[in-house]
Amino acid sequence: MAFTKKTVRDIDVDGKRVIMRVDFNVPLKDGVVTDDTRVRAAIPTIQYLKEHNAGIVLMSHLGRPKGDGPEPELSLKPAADKLAELTGYDVKFVDDTYGEAAAAAVAEVKPGDILVLENVRFLKAEKKNDPEVAKKLASYGDIFVLDAFGTAHRAQGSVVGPAAYIPAVAGFLLEKEVDTLTSIFAEPERPFVAIVGGSKVSSKIGVLDHLIDSADTLIIGGGMAYTFFLAQGYTVGTSLKEEDWVERAGEMLKKAEEKGVKILLPIDNVVSDHFGEDAEGEVVDSDKIPDDRMGMDIGPKTRELYTEAIKGAKTVFWNGPMGVFEFDQFAAGTEAVARAVADSDCTSIIGGGDSVAAINKFDLADKMSWISTGGGASMELVEGKALPGVEALLDA
Ligand code: ADP
Ligand code: MG
Repeated sequence: MAFTKKTVRDIDVDGKRVIMRVDFNVPLKDGVVTDDTRVRAAIPTIQYLKEHNAGIVLMSHLGRPKGDGPEPELSLKPAADKLAELTGYDVKFVDDTYGEAAAAAVAEVKPGDILVLENVRFLKAEKKNDPEVAKKLASYGDIFVLDAFGTAHRAQGSVVGPAAYIPAVAGFLLEKEVDTLTSIFAEPERPFVAIVGGSKVSSKIGVLDHLIDSADTLIIGGGMAYTFFLAQGYTVGTSLKEEDWVERAGEMLKKAEEKGVKILLPIDNVVSDHFGEDAEGEVVDSDKIPDDRMGMDIGPKTRELYTEAIKGAKTVFWNGPMGVFEFDQFAAGTEAVARAVADSDCTSIIGGGDSVAAINKFDLADKMSWISTGGGASMELVEGKALPGVEALLDA
């Protein structure tokens, strides 16, 4: 199930003007980009287009503007400056998206030039994929390139709109993300070990379901483990739990058993009497969680069990921390799993905002095969869904 859409490689861009949707939705502090991962991720395609003599017009959203006009603190100017700093290219910026100033700046773009437009979401209609927005953005280029993997699951004006009017192809980031996150399910090298944690079962039900269809072993940790404990008849004290999802969790355990998928749940836990930075942990077995304690992390025996299971893997997919890793005293479980994945010679694919933050906290990012830049978009792929932005592109 490799990537089935046309990419910038499949279309002649020489002397053409390209309107490209990137994901420059970067965190800002006092007008400065604090994490440039997403800007860096867009550079290979920008570089390719520039080297192939295309004029480049970039657009993105940033944050959650109200959509009633400019909000200076959500301007894309800092992202444009960051792109210039990282590439050494001359990057122009226009503080307009749909008006005359934008059209005039676009008309000035010559082959090899790079122009960044203002935040596409300063206009409410963009999110609704209004045809006027789509037509306007399409008028800025001869070719539309989608490289915004992080928003490819949203059918919005700047993501899918121009594809209705001009030839639309993928950039390299989009291609790599979709290819990586779909081929692990199509043809994983086995054993395929999937690790799912984080807070809630309810937000990961589609992910768990699809993983049971393809993984050999499913490791469960984090807050969601306690809903599975309830399904097994354990009591969980004051741990995070979702009573409405207990039945569904039980069904999933049954489905796994029928399919011969091994599910690993924590055998011991680090529990505490409250949730907080100052909370102190103690270790208890999973069938002995006191009524007044909450599970905050997997315990030492579980760390060993999970490490052992990851050691033999040829493919690992990981989403969701094993505990409340933001507090150092409850980070050991997540760190042990991260180290086990880093030390194993498997293909390792990581998705999810907090999981990526955890891996960065332990400084293990360069030991992983692929770290997805998209939160929601990667989860939808892992659920087996198609992304509207990708669907709209030309077939290869
Ligand atoms: P991701 O962003 O990687 O998809 P999630 O958003 O699903 O992950 O979950 C991350 C959050 O889950 C973290 O903030 C972490 O503190 C929380 N979490 C992990 N284990 C527990 C637990 N035992 N109790 C409560 N929250 C937990
Ligand atoms: Mg999260």
